[in-house]
Amino acid sequence: MILDGYILAHFLHKKYDVILFKMELYAMKITKIEVYIVTPENFNFNSHPVIAKIVTDEGYCGIGEAGIAYGIGHSGAAGALKDLGRTLLGCDPLQTEKIWNAMMTNTFWGYCPGPLFYSAVSALDVALWDIKGKFFHSPVWQMLGGACHTTIRAYASQVQFGWDPGPCRNLYRPAELREVTRVMMDSGFDCVKINPFRYDQDGHFLPGLPEKLKGSMARAIVDRVRAVREEGGDDLDIIVECNSRCSAAVAIQVGGMLEELHCMYLEEPVTMMEPTNFRDVAQRVNIPLAAGERLFTRWQFMPYLQERLIGLAQPDVGLAGGITETKKICDLARTFDVGVQAHVCGGPVAVAAALQIAACCPNYTLQEHHVHCLKPSIRNIVKNDYQPEGGHFDLPDRPGIGVELDEDYMKRFLVYVLE
Ligand code: MG
Repeated sequence: MILDGYILAHFLHKKYDVILFKMELYAMKITKIEVYIVTPENFNFNSHPVIAKIVTDEGYCGIGEAGIAYGIGHSGAAGALKDLGRTLLGCDPLQTEKIWNAMMTNTFWGYCPGPLFYSAVSALDVALWDIKGKFFHSPVWQMLGGACHTTIRAYASQVQFGWDPGPCRNLYRPAELREVTRVMMDSGFDCVKINPFRYDQDGHFLPGLPEKLKGSMARAIVDRVRAVREEGGDDLDIIVECNSRCSAAVAIQVGGMLEELHCMYLEEPVTMMEPTNFRDVAQRVNIPLAAGERLFTRWQFMPYLQERLIGLAQPDVGLAGGITETKKICDLARTFDVGVQAHVCGGPVAVAAALQIAACCPNYTLQEHHVHCLKPSIRNIVKNDYQPEGGHFDLPDRPGIGVELDEDYMKRFLVYVLE
């Protein structure tokens, strides 16, 4: 039996003036959504993982993370979750495709992708898939086509912050980077990402890079990557992170100097806000470019794939549109023979969601493992986080995305309850 959802929603939830689509009676229903902003304790880095938990009338719960733990914006993402989450109350959580399209088409801002709104879309979508997996007692990857890999190769990400559970460090001297390369490789990794652009020769943070670097500064940046190459040997895969902070001129200047070090990818050399500068770098630097953490939905990835500007697509499951949309982005990249790696710079819920995509995509190349995910105050978000062994993750085998919040730890971070 089907009732008009708008009428029923007003009957059941008079305080809400938006409902996304018709509901079926007797289907499972979303009854409550909780939103958390985590402030990790004893953590010397600006990181605030934002978590959504969806509760149903049949007792199933699902969790998802907005991919916005770093930088500025976590309060905005939590607010977007509050506003968008209301529209899901009463919906059947198993209708992931229908709900995703309603979040895009019935919300006005769904047609204008950006991090705050789409991090909320993504967190809710991941939580829905988590519920679906538990309902069918299956890992999410099994429902998306089954496993394409037996293990998932990981890389140690952002090793300029060190590679250990202790406080984040700021490593900029070549000797320090040799040391951390050895630590990382002794843990079994054979692929690493380093951002050599963060600091000047004296270790001071560089907030942005000018149109052209002085020769000594450019050499200092390249020497940091050279130290990693020399310590790691020819078989170490190196990704050089730029975080979009270079001008096109600087990316071309330093990128050209890096060519002799045979880096695997140059990541986000310039802003993705318009592709002209990116195209300029792609044409003039002989290192494959990787990007995608600041692109949302398959529509924004499309021009970069069509023009063959990226050699590795890096959608963030917590930003690009959740599991529903990230799987489509990965399949779209496959159409253009481009590999994928989910961007992961959040907590263990983000890692768990990305692993579901990794398992079932034939063109999945690498799994990012950020140094933050070694820190106890981040790991404490869940009871059972995933960590790689010998540089590889096992296929996740628990239902849903496979991790559960540590409720005792998380209750102090609860900011909104929708019901
Ligand atoms: Mg990046």
